[in-house]
Amino acid sequence: MPDKTPTEADMTGVEARISPKPEVEKIGGRKLKASTLMMGHGYDPALSEGSLKPPIFLTSTFVFPNAAAGKRHFEGVTGKRPGGAEGLVYSRFNGPNQEILEDRLGVWEEAEDALAFSSGMSAIATLFLSMVKPGDTIVHSGPLYAATETLIARVLGKFGVNYLDFPAGATRDQIDAVMAQAKDEGRVALIYLESPANPTNALVDVEAVAASRDAIFADADEKPPIAIDNTFLGPLWHQPLKHGADIVVYSLTKYAGGHSDLVAGGVLGSKEHINIIRAMRNTIGTITDPNTAWMLLRSLETLELRMSRAGENAAKVCRFLNDHAKVERVGYLGFLEEQGDAQQADIYRRHCLGAGSTFSLYLKGGERESFAFLDALRIAKLAVSLGGTETLASHPAGMTHISVAEPRKSQLGITDNLVRISIGVEDADDLIADFDQALAAI
Ligand SMILES: *Cc1c(COP(=O)(O)O)cnc(C)c1O
Repeated sequence: MPDKTPTEADMTGVEARISPKPEVEKIGGRKLKASTLMMGHGYDPALSEGSLKPPIFLTSTFVFPNAAAGKRHFEGVTGKRPGGAEGLVYSRFNGPNQEILEDRLGVWEEAEDALAFSSGMSAIATLFLSMVKPGDTIVHSGPLYAATETLIARVLGKFGVNYLDFPAGATRDQIDAVMAQAKDEGRVALIYLESPANPTNALVDVEAVAASRDAIFADADEKPPIAIDNTFLGPLWHQPLKHGADIVVYSLTKYAGGHSDLVAGGVLGSKEHINIIRAMRNTIGTITDPNTAWMLLRSLETLELRMSRAGENAAKVCRFLNDHAKVERVGYLGFLEEQGDAQQADIYRRHCLGAGSTFSLYLKGGERESFAFLDALRIAKLAVSLGGTETLASHPAGMTHISVAEPRKSQLGITDNLVRISIGVEDADDLIADFDQALAAI
């Protein structure tokens, strides 16, 4: 900018407007909530011409102020100087939009650090690649998101990585048995969970898994970290870091993105674990792009609003569906208690802050009834995915899980009369009217 003498307008207007303001995280001893911090945390308008919203930084590389600073940075990166590297260098490693996103992601679960990825699966793949080597075992709950199962069994299997699993609803004894067997077989690199499991909705007892890990590996040189896919309930309704998990994984495509208009992933956890995963992300370039990061910043501002409304809507819709004559059963976490599932209800009470808005609807009948219902829906769209502002419905047996072998399908409860529903933020009574007329059309 050219030199100029400040005018009165500058002093009272522009200059004052863009002067840096220290970030507020507490007011009068009150720690501000995540929903408040989403509007400003990690971004100083003074660094971007006073722009209220962060600009999208489209650049592949960043300028060093001088050669010594360049050297200092690479000494930090390579470990020649303790303390690591600071600042931005190259966009495969990070950028301003992604950094702000990571700061804000971490806030929701009070995680020490967070990373953003190009998809949920690239987050999961980067996590695995950073932790395992040939001969290692991954212990996991089952079922997992189908692509995660493929990644563990088929892809990592090709590189000599083994796995052992326990059912998502397993008790402490069952978990202990699998954990002990895995320990006998060699190095356990990672314990990987998904709760609630898709599409069974079975909850994993994260506290029991952590206690089991600590007991079984009490005398071992290293304790395997516990990672958990928290896509379905997080971060509003389930915060597994508070229940003994070390690493939380997200498909940000779902509730966090929330508008069905982007694909992204996230990983949260302690600095120690995140640094290992970051090194792998830096190597293979699975970071999200600046534009998607910016879209996610917009999404996070309304995360609590959207998820709260979707959760309230789901409670009303599920209550309606549960009482309907053409409905066999509603697999909704809010009904665990009244459906008499004491063990799952106990896990729910200890771990969850809400029942979510994605559930399983079992109709009376089979494929014919499911298809008639799906085709009759007028508001709800027929599509896979979940956690968006709009209500979606799909038929797992005929769509997402069509290639699952028959015995496993019935074991998982993926029957022809199952419809998966993700409730959005529409008017609850409108949704009920839609489901009512679609049930009448069967
Ligand atoms: C969608 C999803 C994934 C994969 O995420 P992408 O963003 O599609 O790569 C992983 N886990 C769960 C539970 C999911 O729902």
